[in-house]
Amino acid sequence: MGQKNRIQDASKCVHCHLCQKNCVFLKKYGIDIKDTDRLSELAYHCFLCGRCTEVCPAGIDGRGVIMDMRRRHVAGDGGAFVSRRYKRTVSEKQDYLYRNYKHGTKKRVLFPGCNFPSVYPKTTKTLVKLLEEQAGIGVIYECCGKPIADLGMEQQEKAVIQGIEKRLKERHVEELILLCPNCYEYLKPRISLKVTNIYEVLTELGIGFKAAGGARMFRPCPDREKGEWLASITPFLEKPCEPVTEIQCCGLGGCAGVEEPELSKGFARKLKNIPETIYTYCGSCAGQLTRNGCRQVRHILPEILGIPEKPDTVKSLINRMKTKYL
Ligand code: SF4
Ligand code: SF4
Repeated sequence: MGQKNRIQDASKCVHCHLCQKNCVFLKKYGIDIKDTDRLSELAYHCFLCGRCTEVCPAGIDGRGVIMDMRRRHVAGDGGAFVSRRYKRTVSEKQDYLYRNYKHGTKKRVLFPGCNFPSVYPKTTKTLVKLLEEQAGIGVIYECCGKPIADLGMEQQEKAVIQGIEKRLKERHVEELILLCPNCYEYLKPRISLKVTNIYEVLTELGIGFKAAGGARMFRPCPDREKGEWLASITPFLEKPCEPVTEIQCCGLGGCAGVEEPELSKGFARKLKNIPETIYTYCGSCAGQLTRNGCRQVRHILPEILGIPEKPDTVKSLINRMKTKYL
């Protein structure tokens, strides 16, 4: 499961087409990572899932190559394209609209991110209460800034991180407990505080039930290679789950759904006839797959906490807005 050394030099590509065979986006346009002129034009059609990186025998980080292209686009037009095309995301996340640090004055704070509370409002509230009562853990509602970074907005990405770090230090927070593997992988190398995943904390506090066996496991992109989160979750599973390998990602990543709505929705359709329950450990994946017809998806956290909550894909924005006032 270890990560290999990667290079971001597309000229080393040997056109084996493995990336293309493993990616619906590259396949649709008949390109490999080395087809840089076309790829650059299509940089915002990519889900940033990293599947091309995982399979490349030349060690090319295709995801990284495309991220560089996005950054160059933003540097080239001063962000005009992303500000126009991704207006809602930029206006919500650049200076997070539903930020709430009222309960963020403890040494350890829960950082649910923006998507988990949107689709699992009951579980969020129950978990916050439980951690407060059992271990004096606080909570902050904040966006980690990854959506802004994924759009290639490098300057704004730095400003978001500096703002989070400043607010946390002002409140003497020492540890962030994350619910989302995307926030975790994004924040951990960028922030100076200790960063932990929720399953490590539940184990430490002796909280949680075992989730029923016989299910499949959909692994979110940021944890696919390292498997750190899966290792923390495994003690909570009655037995190991067979991984879902039918699709490369949930279709939400990289904001690619704006340019590729059909590809984005199509991933869930490929899973909807799987008879078993499909567990995942990312609120964004659970919401995206459910919203597009894969009704048997369950986030593992409500299962572990014994909360029968299905993803709320209807009121997700309202749920997120409410976190500002919790
Ligand atoms: S990051 Fe994912 S969507 Fe983008 S090119 Fe690679 S495999 Fe395809
Ligand atoms: S998998 Fe790697 S070497 Fe093969 S075509 Fe894609 S980028 Fe080139």
